[in-house]
Amino acid sequence: MRLLVVEDEPGLAETLRKTLEEEGFAVDLAADGDEGLDRLCSAPYDAVVLDVMLPRLDGWTVLQRARAKDVRTPVLMLTARDQVSDRIKGLNLGADDYLVKPFALSELIARLHALIRRSYGAASSTITIGHVVIDAAARRVLLHEVPVELTAREFAILEFLARSRGRLVTRTALYDHLYDEDAAIGSNVVELHIASLRRKLGPDLIRTRRGEGYLIDA
Ligand code: CA
Repeated sequence: MRLLVVEDEPGLAETLRKTLEEEGFAVDLAADGDEGLDRLCSAPYDAVVLDVMLPRLDGWTVLQRARAKDVRTPVLMLTARDQVSDRIKGLNLGADDYLVKPFALSELIARLHALIRRSYGAASSTITIGHVVIDAAARRVLLHEVPVELTAREFAILEFLARSRGRLVTRTALYDHLYDEDAAIGSNVVELHIASLRRKLGPDLIRTRRGEGYLIDA
């Protein structure tokens, strides 16, 4: 899952990037509202963390303009004050959630997982596919009720395919959702991860449509 973090305070931005990457997200940073809006409108992010107080364009304006352009990416706003008027303004402009600074990183992560889950139409954090159970909140996978060790990247690929189950996922879509723009990746890296997932979880879970992409059956 790929996130955009729009935050002008360099220390906080780096902390967020580091924490969220450890959590298995791909993360792009934007340091002002203009850049944030540009990025938000040009890449398929799974969620956005958007600070309200930003140079050039404030978070409200970024949100308003993105929604006016029909960008539907889930947005979590970071507000400096816990005021009802701020919350109402954000919700009216199309924000999906908000946190008041200072916040606990663990709460931010939990809320982002919940936002992404809802945007993929799932109420539960657990996805069951045959004998495989994916617990997105605990970052855990069971095969025949036995835990399977996956790398963060393998987990991200599996989760994305599972949330898109029944739909073909092109290789481009996988790259776009799993890697930030600075990632230097070889052309066959996704194939290698898929091969590893098949070794760990069985050959039939993920199907390849040659030349098109990958699919987990509904
Ligand atoms: Ca700020």
